[in-house]
Amino acid sequence: MPQKTLAGSFELKGISLHSGKQVSMAFGPAPAGTGIVFIVDAPDGLHRLCPRPDAVGATELATTISDGTQSVSTIEHVLAGLRGMDVDNAAIRVEGGEVPILDGSAKLVVQGLLGCGSVAQDAPRSASRVARPFSHAEGAKRIDAEPFDGFRVDYTIRFDHPAIGTQRFCIDVEPGAFAGEIACARTFGFLKDVEYLRSHGLARGGSLESVVVVGDEGVVNPGGLRYPDEFVRHKILDFIGDMAMLGRPLLGSFRVECSGHAFNNAFLRRLAAEPGALEAVSLG
Ligand SMILES: [Zn+2]
Repeated sequence: MPQKTLAGSFELKGISLHSGKQVSMAFGPAPAGTGIVFIVDAPDGLHRLCPRPDAVGATELATTISDGTQSVSTIEHVLAGLRGMDVDNAAIRVEGGEVPILDGSAKLVVQGLLGCGSVAQDAPRSASRVARPFSHAEGAKRIDAEPFDGFRVDYTIRFDHPAIGTQRFCIDVEPGAFAGEIACARTFGFLKDVEYLRSHGLARGGSLESVVVVGDEGVVNPGGLRYPDEFVRHKILDFIGDMAMLGRPLLGSFRVECSGHAFNNAFLRRLAAEPGALEAVSLG
């Protein structure tokens, strides 16, 4: 299986989730072996930021990568879109320090990728595969990884709120299933948290256009949900994006319970650092 990059380029503009500013990102092809690279044009020149497990400052709200002077925030949905659609190499030029939140899902990224198409490159795809069972747990949060020749995510969430409750969804991630089942699932938050976030200068760009808001009576958004279990599907979207921080495709079967960005990242760091937990495979 050869590596894949974009056959053209496209741009997405919109509001950033945290600062509320107008920002943009332009997707284009990149040479084989590049991986995903975010490019920031700073006064001292171009900065190239690559996903790596330890390049991330993860919070429960968003995933940020930094090279020490420049950073790009809220990249998890972009990475999920690229990984979900099997894109190995891409350059994303970011203006504004944060990518636009768009509709809170990877829908527009996937539409852009499908619109410009992809090309096979003259190099075999390489990946990291889970080599033996590996678990990471803390309280109710848990991730169990097992060897598997695809990328399977079986995710369970438990929220003490009648609009969400317990939801479970399992998917073998490949472009068709990702585009149809996961890409359109939006990020979500609780009405009671909105005031807190705003008072701390966070989520200024959040609105019903970009976030599913859950109030005491249920979903506040006039259009309701895109899938009855949109919440757990979005958690899978986040997990795919957070695992893409490895910098190359990750193969394995993952059972995930009640995780979030910070816990996903802690798991990935341990998995990547553990001797013998991952093995390099060539899919050529
Ligand atoms: Zn998300």
